[in-house]
Amino acid sequence: MKMFIHGEWVEGAKQIEVLNPFDGSVVDTVPQASSSDIETVLAGAVRGAEIMRNMPAYDRFRVLRKAADLMFERQDELGRTISCEEGKVLGEGVFEANRAAVTIETSAEEAKRLTGEVLPLDGAPGATGKLGFTLRIPCGVVLAITPFNFPLNLVCHKVGPALAAGNAVIVKPASDTPLSALKLVEILLEAGVPPLAVSCITGSGGSVGEGLCGDDRVRKISFTGSAEVGRRIGQVAGLKKVTMELGSNSPLIVMDDADLTKVVDATIKTGFANAGQVCISAQRVIALENVYTDLVEALHPAVEAISAGDQLDAGTLMGPMVRERDAARVSEWIDEAVSDGARLVCGGGRQAAVVTPTLLADVKPDMRISRDELFGPAVGVTHAANMDQAIEMANDTRFGLSASIFTQDIDAAVRFARNVHSGNIHINWGPMWRADLMPYGGLKESGLGKEGPKYAIAEMTELKTVVIHEG
Ligand code: NAP
Repeated sequence: MKMFIHGEWVEGAKQIEVLNPFDGSVVDTVPQASSSDIETVLAGAVRGAEIMRNMPAYDRFRVLRKAADLMFERQDELGRTISCEEGKVLGEGVFEANRAAVTIETSAEEAKRLTGEVLPLDGAPGATGKLGFTLRIPCGVVLAITPFNFPLNLVCHKVGPALAAGNAVIVKPASDTPLSALKLVEILLEAGVPPLAVSCITGSGGSVGEGLCGDDRVRKISFTGSAEVGRRIGQVAGLKKVTMELGSNSPLIVMDDADLTKVVDATIKTGFANAGQVCISAQRVIALENVYTDLVEALHPAVEAISAGDQLDAGTLMGPMVRERDAARVSEWIDEAVSDGARLVCGGGRQAAVVTPTLLADVKPDMRISRDELFGPAVGVTHAANMDQAIEMANDTRFGLSASIFTQDIDAAVRFARNVHSGNIHINWGPMWRADLMPYGGLKESGLGKEGPKYAIAEMTELKTVVIHEG
């Protein structure tokens, strides 16, 4: 595909191959943008921001609403594109395409709800005879930098709110998965989004992404990706608004009174979806001693039953990882945990980018597989003596994106919700759950700011204070 900059579809002098992670076949190519392309995209976006600033909210609502309808109509095709470029099974690809349409639909609705507030200025001494209020205004040019793992929905979480708020947006998608983002641009244009208001520039993060982050014409950066790249963007961004949605190693606590059938179901669904490549995957299962052995025994056949292979085959439940080198890293971490004393209950194998779904028991909190973000299809089970120790273990991480607990005890659930330092808390489900309209974001090194269209619009706008001095 071509990239879309300054209102035009553009070829590049050099191409990047987009590969199917299962067999390495070339799905398509996209341009590797040059430094002059960066200049072109910025010049177009500055003009696009002016157009969007003057576009009435109702018109912004209408074009986004139309785009959502087109996405619902094309969800099978979009889902297949996601599957081919990213490696998730077809069902998950179509599910993501549907969610992405809902994200744009929700953004459309929020376009009509940008409000300010009347300020009670006479509450300050000597401030009678004044009328004060705030106006919410767009930032201007929003830069959206996105990861590979949800290549359409996470783009929509930035593009939808940016346009709804009256900004122009430049998307820099992950180089492994740029195709669904480019298809989104086709749809937005068909729906009537002004061509200068949306761009999608392809090329490496280190050159294209960083070049854009450092430019002062960009007024707002919305980044989703790894903590390491997030930190680098923070260094080059300078004085701009920044939202960061970063990684995690999410805990799932199992109390003595938990329903183990539900725990197994949730661990499989929240630990192995998209081959574990979800920022809120269940990675660290922390079980109290009384249920520990039963839980490991119950998880064992359920993990073994996850068939892994070609994501486009109907019988496959889990596809490959996005890159073979990531699969090799996951295998290395599993081997390291086993040599440090963890018990391999099942899995542990690998064929190219496909890692066999893996269950490890007797995992220690200081092992790399506990401490860092694994981002792969393995779950480690650790035991805790009591709830205090379980909460301490859950918090013993630099991350804080999502955390969950299984218990029937309302007091324990509330204690967990209050004391675990995480942006999202789930009671009686795993850490991976999200409705796209809810506020979503991490604490600690898992990020800054919130997504979810209503909350992202707040991040992509500025408040202007107006005071009328009466009489
Ligand atoms: P990544 O390596 O951090 O890359 C993310 C994006 O940043 C890509 O578009 C990448 O471009 C670009 N990039 C790389 N270096 C850059 C630089 N120096 N300046 C500007 N942009 C740069 O992440 P990933 O491997 O794609 O995704 C996995 C990570 O995302 C995990 O850590 C996961 O937890 C996190 N994630 C978080 C959330 C959340 O909501 N909190 C959701 C999904 C994923 P290239 O592709 O060209 O390198």
